Amino acid sequence: MQVVTEPKHVQGTIRSLPGRASTVGFVPTMGALHTGHVSLMQAARKECDFTVASIFVNPTQFGPGEDFDRYPRNLDEDLQRCREAGVDMVFAPQTSHMYPPDAESVVRVMRMTEGLEGKIRAGHFDGVTTVVAKLLNIVTPDRAYFGRKDYQQLMVVRKMVRDLNWPVEIVACPIIREADGLAMSSRNRYLSAEDRERSLILHRTLMRAEQMAAESSARPSEVAAEMVRMIGAAEGVELDYAVVVDPDSLESLPDDAKNAVALVAARLGSTRLIDNHILRFR
Ligand code: AMP
Repeated sequence: MQVVTEPKHVQGTIRSLPGRASTVGFVPTMGALHTGHVSLMQAARKECDFTVASIFVNPTQFGPGEDFDRYPRNLDEDLQRCREAGVDMVFAPQTSHMYPPDAESVVRVMRMTEGLEGKIRAGHFDGVTTVVAKLLNIVTPDRAYFGRKDYQQLMVVRKMVRDLNWPVEIVACPIIREADGLAMSSRNRYLSAEDRERSLILHRTLMRAEQMAAESSARPSEVAAEMVRMIGAAEGVELDYAVVVDPDSLESLPDDAKNAVALVAARLGSTRLIDNHILRFR
C-alpha cells in the first residue's frame, strides 16, 4: 500500500496505471476509521481495479467552536485499517498541501445546503464541497464512495458533481451500525457511558418512523411530529432537528408522498450525532 502526502505524487501514480482497463475507486475520509469507513473501502475494492482512500481532517468544514482541535487523529491505526481493507493507496496530506495560504476559491452548492446541517453549521458544506472537489481533481477517480450516514452531504456532493458535469460516479453505501442500532461514527468515542445509552433514542425514533410509515395511515408530517416528540422527551438529549423530507431534494413533502427520508440530529453532552432512515409510506 502506498502512502502519499503530496497531491502531485498521487497524480503521478494514477496516470501510470495500465491504460483504460484500470478503474479507480476513491473513499474520502477524515480518519479515525471504523467499520463504516471500511465498508466503503470494501465496496470500492470489489468494483474497481485500484482503490484510493484519503485521510484528511479538513479544517474548512469545521465552524468556530466545533471539534476540529479534538477530532480523533491516529494515522498509524488508520493506515493499518486501510492495509487490512486492501486499499492500494492512501492520500494523507498536510493542511498546507491542501490549502496554500493564498487560496481563495470555494465550490458552493446553493439551495440544498441552506437547511438542516447547513443551517446549524454555517459554512460547513462550503468546506465539504470545496475539499471534495479538490480531492476529486487530485485522485481523478471513476467512482467515489460515500456513506448514507451523512445523507445531506451525499446529496450535496451528488448535486455538485451533476451540476458541474464531473465525470465521476458517486456511489451511496449503506449505514453501518453497532449491534444495538447506533450508527457508527468517529464521534461516538466522545460519548460518556450514560450518553452512549441515551444515544439509542435516535435509532429507536427512526425505527418508530419506519413502522408508522409502513404500517399505519400516518402522513409525513405526523411521523415527523412523533419523532420530535420522542427525541424531545428523552432526558439529556438536545434535539437539533427531526424531519421527514423528499429523499432527493431534501425539501418538504406533500402528504400523499410515498418516498421519504427521516433525518435526525441531536446533541448529547458536547457530542453531536446525526442519523437517518429511508421511509416508504403506504
Ligand atoms: P468521515 O470520516 O466522517 O468524514 O466519513 C467519511 C465517509 O464515511 C463519509 O462518506 C461517511 O458518510 C462515511 N461513513 C461514516 N460513518 C459511516 C457509517 N456508520 N456507515 C457508512 N458510512 C459511514
